Amino acid sequence: SLNTLNNFYYSKHFRAENGENGAGKNCYGKCGKDLYVDVPVGTLIRDVETGNLMADLDEDGKEEIIMKGGIGGKGNRHFANARRQTPRFYQYGVKTQEKMIELELKTIADVGLVGFPNVGKSTFLSVVSQAKPKIANYHFTTLSPNLGVVQAGEESFVMADIPGLIEGAAEGVGLGHDFLRHVERCRLILHVIDIAALEDRDPIEDYKKINAELEKFSPELRARPQIVALNKADAAIEEMIDEFNDFAKEQGFETYLISAATGEGVPELMHAVERELAKLPPVLRYEAEAPVREEITTKQEFTVTVEDGVYIVEAPWLAHALGFVDLDDYESLQYFQRVLRLSGIIDRLEEMGINEGDTVSILDIEFEYMR
Ligand code: GDP
Ligand code: MG
Repeated sequence: SLNTLNNFYYSKHFRAENGENGAGKNCYGKCGKDLYVDVPVGTLIRDVETGNLMADLDEDGKEEIIMKGGIGGKGNRHFANARRQTPRFYQYGVKTQEKMIELELKTIADVGLVGFPNVGKSTFLSVVSQAKPKIANYHFTTLSPNLGVVQAGEESFVMADIPGLIEGAAEGVGLGHDFLRHVERCRLILHVIDIAALEDRDPIEDYKKINAELEKFSPELRARPQIVALNKADAAIEEMIDEFNDFAKEQGFETYLISAATGEGVPELMHAVERELAKLPPVLRYEAEAPVREEITTKQEFTVTVEDGVYIVEAPWLAHALGFVDLDDYESLQYFQRVLRLSGIIDRLEEMGINEGDTVSILDIEFEYMR
């Protein structure tokens, strides 16, 4: 039932639990509890660092794992073998990872209502669906899209009232820009015009300006199938309607004269919408991109450099091994040393002429070298 990301304006940090450390007596550490974050249907999730699209939560109930982490550490028994039957060490629990993600809501709707404020979009939606959008005679009445389900015989489709589309919207002036993204997935645009010019604007100018905004936002959006509804027929004068229709004929598009207030012309318009939808491809879904994996080489490659007498070992895969080691535990440290020896790091240090008491830095932890 969410239809905005407004909640995220106030809370932006979400922290799942870390895995608990393992312990003696073969105690496994508890895994961190999963953390669920609810988002509205149609939310795109992007990795801020790479810009990659991680998921399109385009259906109700769809779940996506954005971050893994918080596995509990294994107990000491896990490390037992023939010679070391009750090892004293155990794993550290895995810390949760950290990631900055960006949420972008692109509403899922078949039909998007666009037009200047107060042309009657919300009124129209309330007439053709069960939606109860706020209707008021001032601009920016609705700050988030209202969705309504329109019943069309056996079938139904979703219509969205996209608020606040005003001149300069594509440049981010006013509130328009934020809302244009909500039309991006719509299969059909229903462009509503106040043909009674109750706010003293010229309907033909309105039409041009709104389409210029769509074009500026994305030419593809301007090319999207569009049906033009001339609303407020009940209050309009004949000449205004004729003038607009002449313009429409010249431009080669059809118009539907309606009154959301009286219901006049609404059924004809809705039939046209249904006919058009039947011809159109489904709502746009986005494919998640393959994650950019950090280079974790399974080959145990490493580099050793000397800086101010300190031997600096770089080996990304070691982070994993070190993460599981309790540095205060003798056996655990021995285990780590074995990893260092097996991977050839110790041999390399010796080749480089390391001396007793020299400092070795591994993943920012400094050790004193002892033979
Ligand atoms: P929106 O900003 O495009 O969503 O416009 P609203 O639906 O909130 O309507 C703005 C104003 O226009 C309200 O006062 C409505 O009552 C009025 N209105 C909407 N449709 C009609 C109509 O068909 N005829 C007349 N006379 N007024 C209408
Ligand atoms: Mg409205």
